[in-house]
Amino acid sequence: MTLLAPIIEQTAFSLRQNEYEQIAFLFDETSHSLFYSRWAPGPNLTKEPYSALTQLIQGIYEFYPEMARKRVRNRIYATFSPTEMCLGMVKVAAKRLTANVTPKNHGLTHLLDPIEIRGFNRPIFEMSGIEPYKKVSLINPTHSDFMNISIQRASEMPQKEQRYLSNRPIVAILVSKENQLLSWAQNTNSKNRTLHAETLLIQNYYTLTQQGLPIDSKIYTTLKPCKMCAAMIWQSAEDIRRLKVFYQTFDPGPNAAQTVLNPPSFERKRASRCHEDLQIEIETQLI
Ligand SMILES: [Zn+2]
Repeated sequence: MTLLAPIIEQTAFSLRQNEYEQIAFLFDETSHSLFYSRWAPGPNLTKEPYSALTQLIQGIYEFYPEMARKRVRNRIYATFSPTEMCLGMVKVAAKRLTANVTPKNHGLTHLLDPIEIRGFNRPIFEMSGIEPYKKVSLINPTHSDFMNISIQRASEMPQKEQRYLSNRPIVAILVSKENQLLSWAQNTNSKNRTLHAETLLIQNYYTLTQQGLPIDSKIYTTLKPCKMCAAMIWQSAEDIRRLKVFYQTFDPGPNAAQTVLNPPSFERKRASRCHEDLQIEIETQLI
């Protein structure tokens, strides 16, 4: 459903409580509902793995698992300029986006039933977290040693006969400069399509520490990160020039073969702020 600009602008105006808030919303014709999300960017705005858009998309998947796929196919409207992370999530888990909507009062009053999507910014400890065994007792650990932790965990994930009911066996871990295990996460996409291992890893780490991915840290993941996860890694790194991503299996799919982590992809060109950004090497396959 494509709506007239005055209706979009009026909706943004009516939903926004103050000028600092980001608003994302979509109209769902089937349920005659207006789903929306507000987000007040925090002090560490640039490293935050959240936005009004991620709240809206992830919250719809979380709270309406049966209807989610259909709902997020509706055009999403946003009152702000989307980051690469926002664009990645729209690409992988939703469909269409109209950004930079200007909230404006046209004197229109009718709104469909507005339903606020919020609260999707908390850790899911069973699937991810900061573990008690923070110190991995490996002597002079190699990249393969860390990758083996992810591989081992992924192999322990239960698989049902019907593949679509199971979470894909993918695990990611975050390791500090000092070779300490900072966080881990497994894919939980069978219910929430946005919760790939890396997304969950980053969002949980941020929620628990209020920090981006630390300088000189490393991510070891069993599958090449997709466009959504790659963009969240790009956004959340304290310094993307000092972060490395190692993966085990290449993913040739259209959402993963080329991402912002792979120069000179379209996404890298779009996300780069200077010539140097175009060159940064971040991702390596461990064979
Ligand atoms: Zn992903």
